[in-house]
Amino acid sequence: MSATPPAANPSPLLETEALTKYFPIVRSIAEVVGRKPGRAIHAVDGVNLVVNAGETVGLIGESGSGKTTLGWVVARLHDPTDGALRFEGKDVFALEGGELRHWRRNVQVVFQDPVGSLDPRLKVWQVVGEPLRAQNQMERWFARNEPKRVVREYRTKVRKERERLRLEYRPDLKARQFLTTEYEKGVAQRAKARDEARRRLDRDYEVAIARADKMKPAPEDLKRVEAEYRAALERAKKAGMPPKQRQEILYQFRPDLKERNRLTNEYDAELARRTKLRTEEEKRLGKEFKVARKAAKKRKLPPEEKKRRYAEYRTFVKVARKAARKPKLPPEEKMRRYEGYRALAKTLPPPPVIPKIPVPPMISNAQIRRRVAEALPLVGLMPAILDQYPHEFSGGGRQRISLARALIVNPKLIILDEPTSALDVAVQAQILNRLVELQRERGIAYILITHNVAAVRFVADRVAVMYLGQIVELGPVREVLERPVHPYTKALLAALPVADVRRRRTRYRIGGDIPTLVDPKPGCRFAPRCPFAEDQCQLNDPVLQPRPGAPSHQVACLRAEQVAGVSPADLLQEGGGAAATLKAAASGALAAG
Ligand code: SF4
Repeated sequence: MSATPPAANPSPLLETEALTKYFPIVRSIAEVVGRKPGRAIHAVDGVNLVVNAGETVGLIGESGSGKTTLGWVVARLHDPTDGALRFEGKDVFALEGGELRHWRRNVQVVFQDPVGSLDPRLKVWQVVGEPLRAQNQMERWFARNEPKRVVREYRTKVRKERERLRLEYRPDLKARQFLTTEYEKGVAQRAKARDEARRRLDRDYEVAIARADKMKPAPEDLKRVEAEYRAALERAKKAGMPPKQRQEILYQFRPDLKERNRLTNEYDAELARRTKLRTEEEKRLGKEFKVARKAAKKRKLPPEEKKRRYAEYRTFVKVARKAARKPKLPPEEKMRRYEGYRALAKTLPPPPVIPKIPVPPMISNAQIRRRVAEALPLVGLMPAILDQYPHEFSGGGRQRISLARALIVNPKLIILDEPTSALDVAVQAQILNRLVELQRERGIAYILITHNVAAVRFVADRVAVMYLGQIVELGPVREVLERPVHPYTKALLAALPVADVRRRRTRYRIGGDIPTLVDPKPGCRFAPRCPFAEDQCQLNDPVLQPRPGAPSHQVACLRAEQVAGVSPADLLQEGGGAAATLKAAASGALAAG
């Protein structure tokens, strides 16, 4: 899928490329024993998205469509399974440790739940000022470590470049290195396969042993069982039972030990069998080789045939030797190459300019309080509340505190995860207005994750519609919301409640079953619910593609242009034969198309 923004704004702040996040499902013991492959929930699957500086991109879709997971991966609160994430052209997934923490100030998150995301033990100035303290620590770390990183990076670059030049000058070394690498790869692969087989055996053994341990008597019964066993053993000794048979008495009382013993014997036998097989295989190969050599020796050929074969052999050896001989370079060519090497060596990267970053002083509580007092009015709160606790505020107040916490470090991107879901309509409008004003003042970009399409219409420049981990439609807000093309977008918009008395009795819903996100089948994920689905939809994955004549409006539907003209009401009206209405609408549109 591709989600290139309009060409008018060519400065991408954030780019995701085939971003993927799978959550593996823990396998049951039966699956482990049955060696069934692991399964995973495909929460985000191959998402390409671009967010420009100062732009708002809305993410809408049903619950479970992957909006929040995508936001969390972008903020690196989740590690991705695959794909790339670039922020101002820098690979974010390559950042680790201090570098990652230093980068985090660029992207802040306003969480969905303003109650759970604010620490109730901290006062407002502490909650809002916490990122300042973290940022100060990171800046101090950065000032100390950045010069070291620059030097390290330069040394690595020079080392790699020298190696490349050396190999360019000595093609024989290059060939040898290639062969050695290939050989080592082969050795490593064989060792890996052997280790994996052994690990599988050990794992199966451990699982089986764990099952056997479940047969152990309960701890409260253990003493009684041991007493009964000892009594039975005494009786057996008195009756003159031979020691070998006495073990069976133990097994009668402790079946878990019997099972353990059996499993351990089986495991040992399997190991021994494998070793024996390997040895036998080696022996067999050696023997076969010897026999073949002997047989070849005994085979007598007529003298003329012998002569012919010998001549053939000599020719072959001659040709092979010639081919194997290293081509000798003429001295002038040698000199030319050497000069070339010296010239190339001069192109080594110049020494870096080591940045001199002054280490900022540690931020004090008084400074934090002052900065927080300056930040609170930005979100419509009074500085007088510095010493109050979050629980003393209404939902709207807490959401403003969350917003102030995100803003205080001057981020370039804020991920707003349902920022208005818990608020009444008046407060929603206040918060949204404030977001728009802040964006104008500071040029912040937003990713707005929401179910509230009206908020998207009001705040966002572009909107991406997500369904089961994928973006199915993306484009300018007006274009997508007023002229939706993808059947899912149409259905989603049609299902919105409308304050219109004429439509009060009309109910809309998306029919069909939602396919599972666990290892989804190939093909369009909306196909089980789509009235326009046909055979090709089950087989081919739709790709997000620009519409003809509207490159900024992209749709992932194999029949996009055919279904574009069907109205949402025709598509999903329920009552009076919903299925017939759907099909009629679909076929009517197709006939027209
Ligand atoms: S690709 Fe087929 S199933 Fe998927 S939305 Fe388009 S028409 Fe419906």
